[in-house]
Amino acid sequence: MNVSATELVIIGGGLAGLVTANRAAQLGLKATVLEQGNAGKYLCNTRYTGGTFHLCLREITLQPDFLNQLILETTDGFVSKAHARLLADGGAKIIAWLQAEGIKFMRASASEYHKWVLAPPGRSKPGLDWEGRGGDVLLRTLEANLVKRGGKLVRGAKAISLISENSRCVGVTTQDSDNKTEWRARAVVIADGGFQCNPELLEKYISKQPLKLKQRNGGTAFGDGLRMAQGLGAAITGTGAFYGHVLSKDALTNDNLWPYPYLDALVTAGIVVNREGRRYTDEGRGGVSVANAVARLDDPLSSTCIFDQSIWEGPGKNGLIAANPYLMRESATIYTADNLDTLAAKAGINAMALKQTVADYNAAVAASGNATDIKPADGINRRNQKYKALSIVKAPLYAVPMVSGITYTMGGITINAHAQVLREDGSAIEGLYAAGAATGGLEGGPQIGYVGGLAKGGITGLAAAEHIAAAKI
Ligand SMILES: Cc1cc2nc3c(=O)[nH]c(=O)nc-3n(C[C@H](O)[C@H](O)[C@H](O)COP(=O)(O)OP(=O)(O)OC[C@H]3O[C@@H](n4cnc5c(N)ncnc54)[C@H](O)[C@@H]3O)c2cc1C
Repeated sequence: MNVSATELVIIGGGLAGLVTANRAAQLGLKATVLEQGNAGKYLCNTRYTGGTFHLCLREITLQPDFLNQLILETTDGFVSKAHARLLADGGAKIIAWLQAEGIKFMRASASEYHKWVLAPPGRSKPGLDWEGRGGDVLLRTLEANLVKRGGKLVRGAKAISLISENSRCVGVTTQDSDNKTEWRARAVVIADGGFQCNPELLEKYISKQPLKLKQRNGGTAFGDGLRMAQGLGAAITGTGAFYGHVLSKDALTNDNLWPYPYLDALVTAGIVVNREGRRYTDEGRGGVSVANAVARLDDPLSSTCIFDQSIWEGPGKNGLIAANPYLMRESATIYTADNLDTLAAKAGINAMALKQTVADYNAAVAASGNATDIKPADGINRRNQKYKALSIVKAPLYAVPMVSGITYTMGGITINAHAQVLREDGSAIEGLYAAGAATGGLEGGPQIGYVGGLAKGGITGLAAAEHIAAAKI
């Protein structure tokens, strides 16, 4: 067993880990990042990111009190006041801090959501497109800055256990191809990116059939941090929700259909049905919520999006890599027909039930006027605020088989607003912190409130580093 001593060790070299390490080094601490990947450009979600820094899909530098309220509303009270405040106050701060590190942002479209996007943007074409794009540049820039500050990033170092003495965390044990090494430190930060690639944990918390989800991510988050933290008595929060998008079912076999284009704009203007031709969720809550609902079905591959020509020509064209035209260009399965009987037969859906579902839904849309909810006869009400419900009438009619694409788990290790890891009784585990997608309690909850993966990673990373430096532990 090798033994190495430093002031701060961080598990994971994504955005959260490298922000923590650089901020800590700025504040005078010697920081070492332990990264399981061996490659120069090891994969992770940050490497693949689309790069939009936002809070609840709004501009991240808006007035903090406004953002605070928005986070509380989006998460329907699931996120604590302290966490909402941390994120709201941290929006402008993380942008300014990254800019000072040499990170470049650009406006990727006229939409407010695209105001702060890592340059160059990580979505210029269908399929994966990361090399030399914003996330890749960010990771290489932050690693170079860390080295200049006297810190280091060790590749091929997979954290397998935490070291605890007298109820405090005092280090990490890693395993590489030949050796185990003990990294002793004053504090440890878990920034391993969540548990979306661990089928057992997905089955426990998210889907009865985890192998029927599309892994829309870097393939590197196995829940090691969650397991290790729980071993030291950590509480976990909000593990039932994830951030992701609804994709063409063909994304399971066609790499040009993930991470983009996704189907959210079609899903939130039209309806989603199961093989019985019935709706099963409120499409008006947005694509992230629908992706969660699809994952929860007994068979997550049994779902189809139904819409018409007006939706295809309207909302279908929204987004940087829009469903229209990219689904067709990339040969995704799209059934079209002039009537619902033929469409249902082509898509393998119960025709009689589908006709009833669409008739009820169209009647509810027609009756809704400016109402904030529409109330189809199937009893599954649909929000009609952010995402407007449109009737499904104009031929050709469309059916697109779907898969739920999971990007990162929203829940995980419970932390406080200093990113300290908490036990069930609310006390902090001394010396142990968590940041980024490894954490729980900052987004999600029953309404699947999406706050923002990059914002969360950057802001919790700064909070962890600043508390460790100030605590002089
Ligand atoms: C395609 C795609 C598009 C996205 N677009 C956006 C967007 O536009 N806006 C937005 O806000 N968010 C977006 N996200 C999400 C966002 O990129 C992530 O939430 C964020 O980058 C996560 O950072 P992280 O540091 O927590 O995790 P990661 O970047 O995944 O880093 C975790 C690191 O920990 C390492 N690791 C794991 N286990 C161990 C271990 N046992 N020992 C050592 N190392 C370990 C991994 O190898 C990895 O390098 C997107 C994600 C994807 C995949």
